[in-house]
Amino acid sequence: MIITRSNLPKNIPCYFLFYFVLIILALSLIGCDQSYNEVMADDTIDDVGVVLDLTNEALEQDDGDFILSELPVDFSALNAIIDEIIMQNLNAVGQFILYYLLIVWTFFLSLPVYIRAVSYISMIAAFIGTIASHALGIYRNKNEWQKHPGHDLMYSYFINSGTFQRKKSYNDAHKLLRDRKWLLVSFAGLAFRLGNYSNKSKILMFILAFAYIPLAIIGFCEMVFRILFGTIWLLVFNLIHSLMLFGTKLISFLMIPISKIFDNAMRNVQYCPHCYNTFNMPEFICPECGRVHKELIPGRCGVLFVRCGCNKKILPCATFTGRSRLVAKCPACTVELAAANARHLSIALIGGESTGKTAFLSAFSKSYIDNAKKKKALTVNGKPANYFDELSRIFSSGKTSKESESRTYSLVHRYGKREKDNLVIYDTLADYILADSYPRSPKYLGYCDGIIVLIDPLSVRSVRDTLATVGDTKTTTDYSADEVDKLVVQFKNQYAKICGIKSGKMSRIPVAIVVNKVDIEIVKSEIGWDTISELYNQNMAAYDNDLDGAKNQICRAYLEKLGLINVLNNIDATFLNVDYFPVSAIGHVSEEGVKFTPIGVLNPVAWIARKNHSSISVIFSPDGLCLKLVKLHEKFVKTLRSIKR
Ligand SMILES: [Zn+2]
Ligand SMILES: [Zn+2]
Repeated sequence: MIITRSNLPKNIPCYFLFYFVLIILALSLIGCDQSYNEVMADDTIDDVGVVLDLTNEALEQDDGDFILSELPVDFSALNAIIDEIIMQNLNAVGQFILYYLLIVWTFFLSLPVYIRAVSYISMIAAFIGTIASHALGIYRNKNEWQKHPGHDLMYSYFINSGTFQRKKSYNDAHKLLRDRKWLLVSFAGLAFRLGNYSNKSKILMFILAFAYIPLAIIGFCEMVFRILFGTIWLLVFNLIHSLMLFGTKLISFLMIPISKIFDNAMRNVQYCPHCYNTFNMPEFICPECGRVHKELIPGRCGVLFVRCGCNKKILPCATFTGRSRLVAKCPACTVELAAANARHLSIALIGGESTGKTAFLSAFSKSYIDNAKKKKALTVNGKPANYFDELSRIFSSGKTSKESESRTYSLVHRYGKREKDNLVIYDTLADYILADSYPRSPKYLGYCDGIIVLIDPLSVRSVRDTLATVGDTKTTTDYSADEVDKLVVQFKNQYAKICGIKSGKMSRIPVAIVVNKVDIEIVKSEIGWDTISELYNQNMAAYDNDLDGAKNQICRAYLEKLGLINVLNNIDATFLNVDYFPVSAIGHVSEEGVKFTPIGVLNPVAWIARKNHSSISVIFSPDGLCLKLVKLHEKFVKTLRSIKR
């Protein structure tokens, strides 16, 4: 049979190349040894012998003499003497080892060149085998973590898993060290492969048989060195690794309480939009396996990060390491939360059916998100997304629909990667308030930071009659038939019950009375911004030079005129902070196909945010700036008037 490249085992040339390189390396080392031998052989070993003899003599002379003579004079002197003796003995031990190593070395150098060459080659291969066994032992066990029995998490690497992994790694490394079969870059490994290789070509097998004998001899020497030196190597590194893990374990135990304190301090109270439960530790979901972690906090599973029980994902376990970026669920009802650790600004939106609540929410959310887009380093996302998609459709199509359920809208504010604020609007169906029967508990009222009461002027018959007299029948087709005073009284009673407000006590929670549909001419002429400015400019002193105060007085007077005094009195009896806002959610008569052009929809929420010192006030800063400019203009006009006088 002709030997061709194709019927040669693929890696045979590589083996021989490696073999060749090692021989070259060994020969060059022998060259170094010879020159070393020439210089050192005669003098150094003799010198070492002399040094050792002198040391031994010194030790013999010292033996017993000064201990007996000095005792029991002075403990410090005694300690110094003991130290000296220990050092002398240690030196003696060191010299003893050095002495015998040198003897072994001399013996080795006296061996024939070819034995030394074989030793060098096998030592180099043994060193490679040791390093490879060590590295592979660690690599194979890199995902071996010890499971915590109480949580669906792994123990921290620095607390238990590290030791667990270390033991497995070094066990494996020792096994690999003793196993001659696996390593390709090894004479023992090559000899094993070659011994098990068969080929029909007798010529090839004959040639390979020649290669096998030296490979087997060097392989045997290699395995002896590998097991001898490798075992020492692995024991030393195992000890170093153990000491390091012991140190990190101590540090971890010290870090746990510190991390817990910071984590607790940075947590914000969370509210469930579904069951209205209050908590500050939601459940977190592993994005890899979907496991629910009820207590993702610093502990024995990790100080800053923990490894999930699926052993595939590292999860942040503290507020400051980004835990809130994980999907979170309410611990009571397991409904997904819009944000995990955001500061809440919760607002209850109250209004009768067809007051324009959905239109108001649609106009507000669109204006709010648009405003937020102008702010750098801040993004606002509406959750649940389908609610906000619906609001967006209503805004652009102009087609409003009747509410069929109570909803909770969340506007989650992200600053960089962190969720920091959550503006939550609870929209409760008027029917539930009027019937004093809530499908879900109304306990969200207990933690609301503000209330918006939406009033539809068209719900008042006199306004509709006036419009009818001027022939406007289009506007009056869509109005709230609910009785505003009954709605407000029912709500106020429910609120007082939930918040435990006794009669005669007042709530400081800000209440924004929003008069909607201010685009209608007969409403606009009474409380439109132009009218308010005009009335204010006519007699600033009457309004204490306060434009906001003027707006409140004018709107309140208008509602009184409409016969809603009972509503206002009921609100005033319970709430201390009440402001009035003329608003138009749609900006015109509701018409399908004509998009909204809202007026003043941001003002009520901006006022509630300011009253609560909420950081979301930043979204409204352009309006704030406008208000400042208006006030500046007022001051300018006032100054001019005083000069004229
Ligand atoms: Zn997982
Ligand atoms: Zn819940």
